[in-house]
Amino acid sequence: MSTYPTSRVAVIGGGPAGLMAAEVLAGAGVQVDLYDAMASLGRKFLLAGKGGMNITHAEPYADFVARYDRRSANVQGWLDAFNPSALRAWIHGLGVDTFVGTSGRVFPHDMKAAPLLRAWLARLRGAGVQLHMRHRWLGWHGEQLHFATPEGAIDVRHDAVILALGGASWARLGSDGKWVPLLQTRGVAVAPLLPSNCGFDTDWSAHFSSRFAGAPLTTVAIAWRDRAGVMVRRQGQCIVTATGIEGSLVYALSGPLRDQLLADGHATIWLDLLPDIDAGKVEAELMRGRGSRSMASHLQSRLGIKGVKAGLLREILGAAAYADPAQLARAVKQLPVVLKRTRPIDEAISSAGGVAFDALDGAMLKAMPGVFVAGEMVDWEAPTGGYLLSACFASGRAAARDALAWLAARE
Ligand SMILES: Cc1cc2nc3c(=O)[nH]c(=O)nc-3n(C[C@H](O)[C@H](O)[C@H](O)COP(=O)(O)OP(=O)(O)OC[C@H]3O[C@@H](n4cnc5c(N)ncnc54)[C@H](O)[C@@H]3O)c2cc1C
Repeated sequence: MSTYPTSRVAVIGGGPAGLMAAEVLAGAGVQVDLYDAMASLGRKFLLAGKGGMNITHAEPYADFVARYDRRSANVQGWLDAFNPSALRAWIHGLGVDTFVGTSGRVFPHDMKAAPLLRAWLARLRGAGVQLHMRHRWLGWHGEQLHFATPEGAIDVRHDAVILALGGASWARLGSDGKWVPLLQTRGVAVAPLLPSNCGFDTDWSAHFSSRFAGAPLTTVAIAWRDRAGVMVRRQGQCIVTATGIEGSLVYALSGPLRDQLLADGHATIWLDLLPDIDAGKVEAELMRGRGSRSMASHLQSRLGIKGVKAGLLREILGAAAYADPAQLARAVKQLPVVLKRTRPIDEAISSAGGVAFDALDGAMLKAMPGVFVAGEMVDWEAPTGGYLLSACFASGRAAARDALAWLAARE
């Protein structure tokens, strides 16, 4: 028998967070109306599946939680009730197997999002969730939710509302951040939406850009100064772009680098182009006589540096320092790259910022009792590696749980 037979809840936003909230609510017997501005659901989720959907991570739970950095304690509140193992079990329940990749990342067995989403939507429909596509939420008219639909504007009343509207990247997939002023005018504190897991611009010369845009930098290390002024170093892969640098290693550092850039107007990283060869060996090799060979062929024959790595050294050092073996050796291990801008938020994998945790009582807006928020629209960020989706799923469940408790208290 339904626990909440007369309660009607609106979930606005049909990404992973909203769909998960709808599932929990429908499971408790609530009548759920799920609204989305787009013609179909989960578009960003499907895109995430294109490059190999990384849905969670198998590392120890304490390490997993630490990935949410400043917001670890808040996000842990969601994850404790739906941790990575529970998420995997839930996926298996949809008939989709998962596997752990060599890096500990967890993927659906075919690395795609579509089969999972298809099975999930069928289950939600079966549970009675009413799907209202092409319904763009525009705010409130008095107590009622106001939507633009292909048939014209409508106002609807619900007993509770869950907003799961996403961040502001890839706006063409639906999450455009236009909800920010709608909540701010209701007295809800929202931290500015900023690019996260994003690339950066450095303003290469036209010559360098035209020769090396798209070239992968494998394998390099990046060192940078963290918030406490301590030099930190990470190794991985990145890509030179027409205007700067991007790729998994850069994305992983994008939060602190973006914050530094916003504070100081620029951020410097130091590239180690040969992370597996120590500085002494690099210097010894470059100081050996090169006879009549050019510096480019000396670099290649002594250290195997060519192509984009050689181009970077020449681009950043300038002709004189490039010709000096001692300066060149130092630069191979510590090449400063000044980042000038983040790439636009629309290109980012995710957004930082959003509804402030201080504005929330659990998942409910303090300023708007009965209105709950979930997913990327809340003020947390995380690197790629399955951490984004894991937190979105878990926060959707937390918002539904809090909405159910709120409805129960009103009965
Ligand atoms: C290229 C790419 C690859 C990614 N890969 C991964 C990955 O491998 N692993 C991972 O963990 N994460 C990945 N992510 C991130 C992940 O997809 C997002 O963090 C996640 O989809 C956010 O879920 P959400 O439910 O909060 O919001 P969204 O998925 O953005 O959904 C929000 C929904 O709200 C709707 N909406 C917005 N405004 C309105 C409105 N006014 N009225 C009605 N509806 C509205 C939108 O149409 C949308 O359907 C990737 C993202 C991108 C862009």
